[in-house]
Amino acid sequence: MQTPARQTASIDTIWNAVRDGFIAEFGEATFNNWIAPLALTELDSHQACISTPTRFTKEWVRIHYPEALLGLIQQQIPAIQRIDLRVAQKPATTENVVSAEDAGINTAPTAAPTAPAEHALLSVIGQRLDPRFTFDHFVSAESNQLACAVAQKVANAETPIAGLNPLFIYGGVGLGKTHLLHAIGHHINATQPHKRVVYLSSEKFMYQFVQALRDKDIMAFKEMFRSVDVLMIDDIQFICGKAGTQEEFFHTFNALVDSGKQLILSADRSPTDMEGMEERIRSRLGGGMVADIADTTLALRRGILASKVKQMNVTMPAEVLDFLAEKITSNVRELEGALNKVVAHTEFTGRSFSVENTQTILCDLLRASEKTISIDDIKQQVAEHYQLKIADMNSARRARHIARPRQIAMYLCKQLTTHSFPEIGRRFGGKDHTTILHAVRRVEELQAVEPEIASDIKTLAAAIKRG
Ligand code: ADP
Ligand code: MG
Repeated sequence: MQTPARQTASIDTIWNAVRDGFIAEFGEATFNNWIAPLALTELDSHQACISTPTRFTKEWVRIHYPEALLGLIQQQIPAIQRIDLRVAQKPATTENVVSAEDAGINTAPTAAPTAPAEHALLSVIGQRLDPRFTFDHFVSAESNQLACAVAQKVANAETPIAGLNPLFIYGGVGLGKTHLLHAIGHHINATQPHKRVVYLSSEKFMYQFVQALRDKDIMAFKEMFRSVDVLMIDDIQFICGKAGTQEEFFHTFNALVDSGKQLILSADRSPTDMEGMEERIRSRLGGGMVADIADTTLALRRGILASKVKQMNVTMPAEVLDFLAEKITSNVRELEGALNKVVAHTEFTGRSFSVENTQTILCDLLRASEKTISIDDIKQQVAEHYQLKIADMNSARRARHIARPRQIAMYLCKQLTTHSFPEIGRRFGGKDHTTILHAVRRVEELQAVEPEIASDIKTLAAAIKRG
C-alpha cells in the first residue's frame, strides 16, 4: 500500500466527502458523536481502513453504520468493497473487517450469525442466556413463589409495571436467582423480539465501566446501556463499596427507570442489608419490587428432582429421589450436582438406582453435610427429650430410666455421625467400645419390638438433624 502525497490528499478529499454525506443523511448530532472522531487512514484497491478512538465507538459504528459508511465511500471510489475498522494504536487484536457481502454486519464472535444489528450490539455489552434456564424448567414452591410470580409478570409486561420496576430478587447462593433472570430474558426474547434485553453480571458491568474510563469513552458506555429496553444485572452485591462503579450504576439505572425501561437486579442479600451501598441507591432499589427466595423445603427439592429426571429422561425410584431430597439440603445447585453424579455413576457402572448405591456414590458429600452433627448435640437433645441432665449421659448409673436414653444417644451417635465405637465410648464418660456396640444392638432390637421407642428415635433424629 503506497501512501504518496497525492494519495494522502485524495484520502482527505474522499473522507471530507464521506463526512459531508453522513451529515446530510444522519444530522450533525449523530455525526459529532460517532463519525467526527473517526479517521480514514488507508485506502487500497478495494478496502478502506478507518481508525476509531475507542472500542465502544468502533463497536457502535460497526453495528449501526457499516452500510452507510461503505455506501458513502463507494460513491467516491466504487471499487471499495470493505471497511476495516481499527481502534487507533491497538492494531491486530481489535481489528475487525466489515465486508459488503455480509451486508456490513460482521458479528462479534459471541453473536449468532443471523443476529440483527441491535442484538449483535447487545452481545458486546451483555452475556449469553443459558438455554436451560427457562420458566418451564423452574419449579415453584412456597420459598420462591413470589419471586417467580413477579418475574413472570415482568416478563409478560409490554411496558414496565409501576411497582415492579426495578425488580430486585435476592436469596442465598444456588437458589435460582440467575435462573429466574435468564428465564425473564428468554421469555421477552421469544414474545417481544423487538425489545433489547441485556443480561450481565455486575463484574462484567464493572469491567466495562473501568474499560470505558480507561478508554475515555464514558459517553459511549452510557449511550450503549441506555439504549437497552430491559437491563438485568446479576449479583449486584459486588458493586457495593466500589464508589465509581456504584455511581455510574446508579445513574444508569435511574436513567433507565425514568425513561420507562425495565431494570432487574439480583443480589445475595436484601437492599437494606447491602453494606457499603449508598443510602440513596439503597432506597431507590427498595422503591420497586423486592422479592426474596428463601431456603428450599423438602417438597421443593423433591419437586425439582422429579423435574430434572424427567428432563434427563431417566427413571429413578421414588425412594432414591426422597433420599436425595432429604439429604442434600444446602441448595439447588448441590442437589443438581448430586443427582448428576448419581446418574453418571449408575450409567457408567451399569448398576441400578438404589438408595444403597446412591449412598456409596455420594458418601463424601453426605458425610460433609452430616459433619455438622456432633456427639454433644445428640447428648443434649436426648437428655432434653427424656428430661435428664447431660451428666446422666456420661454416668455409669444403671437405672433403666437413665440407661435406656443413654443407649439411645449412643445409637444415634453411631447413626448420625462418623465417629467410631471407641471414640463414642470415650465421649460417654470413658466407656469401652463394647458398651457402645452393645447399646447399638440393644436399641436396634428394641426398635423392632417397641413402636414407641422407634417413634421416639425418629423424632429425635429429625430434631437433631434440624439442629
Ligand atoms: P443463584 O443464581 O441463586 O446462585 P442459580 O440460578 O444459578 O442460583 O441456580 C443454581 C442451579 O439450580 C441452576 O442449575 C438452576 O437451574 C437450579 N435451580 C435453582 N432453583 C430452581 C428451581 N426452583 N427449579 C429448577 N431449578 C432450579
Ligand atoms: Mg447466580
